[in-house]
Amino acid sequence: PADVLTFGETMLAAQLPGTLAVGAQARTTVAGAESNVAIGLARLGHHAVWAGLVGDDEPGRLVLRTLRGEGVDITRAGTHATAPTGALLRERRVADLARVHYWRSHSAASLLTPADLAPALGDGARILHLTGITCALGPGPLEAVRTAAAHAQAQGWTVTLDVNHRQRLWTAEEAGRALRPLLPHITVLIASDDELPVVTGVPGGTPDGEDGEARAVGALLDAGVREVVVKRGGEGAAVRDRQGTRHSLPALRVPVRDTVGAGDAFCAGYLSGLLDGVPPAGRLARANTLGAFAVASDGDWEGLPRRDELGLLDAAPGSAIR
Ligand code: ATP
Repeated sequence: PADVLTFGETMLAAQLPGTLAVGAQARTTVAGAESNVAIGLARLGHHAVWAGLVGDDEPGRLVLRTLRGEGVDITRAGTHATAPTGALLRERRVADLARVHYWRSHSAASLLTPADLAPALGDGARILHLTGITCALGPGPLEAVRTAAAHAQAQGWTVTLDVNHRQRLWTAEEAGRALRPLLPHITVLIASDDELPVVTGVPGGTPDGEDGEARAVGALLDAGVREVVVKRGGEGAAVRDRQGTRHSLPALRVPVRDTVGAGDAFCAGYLSGLLDGVPPAGRLARANTLGAFAVASDGDWEGLPRRDELGLLDAAPGSAIR
């Protein structure tokens, strides 16, 4: 079996240093939360399978070629005969403000069904990694997530879920209604601190400080999740499990270049630690390390480390490695 099976929407991404309306030159790459995680894992030497759907078009070929080139197993990825690959445009509007436009409704990925996933599930995996984004793509993808989660739990795999709430795709209430029934299948839930109310259904936006966060995490453990990992951006992250283990770790201090992809990198680090049998505090450290790599380098996944580079950020700031 594979180490990790994941699936979701990976899109053509055009990155512009200015605005499209005045004709800025684009750099083309691919973007997708689950494939970012798969790339992060593959760079660390794990066998990661990405089983999403792309269109039978040039963006789809770029997605597959990129993932294959990064060592992600795409033998279970599919191509939809008529629906297109999704796309996004990221404009650097002013110095540190980016604006993203999406073309993803009716995309190939939004038409994924449980049947598309059956072969990959049949192959087996140690970890099934899911995100809330896939659940938001449409009824088919949500059903595929439900089917996969139930199958994985029945087979005794570890099931990880990154809440990854996307306000552009659905409201917090809709997300909560879709995600809460999944909780009993989830082994490890990963969320940003501000996403906790989405899954706990506690109204009123962000949890009320540390107490609010502790209550939210407690509610998730009561709902059947075995371990909850909370991302706190530049503050670092924390983990708590049902056995009462609790750890929190500050983020690494790095120069911030591009924060997009930090959450996905963090997940890749955490899952890598799980696969290597690293205890919770060490998993958190590896997750923070990958998150720091993502924020300190350009691109969503391009700067993620190979295994021999994991210690790179320990080097003195400004040093050259010769
Ligand atoms: P995104 O959705 O933009 O990918 P996120 O909101 O899911 O991000 P964050 O909490 O912003 O995730 O960041 C994830 C992890 O990345 C943090 O827990 C931390 O380990 C690392 N990280 C984020 N910001 C910084 C920073 N400024 N410096 C160092 N590490 C950071």
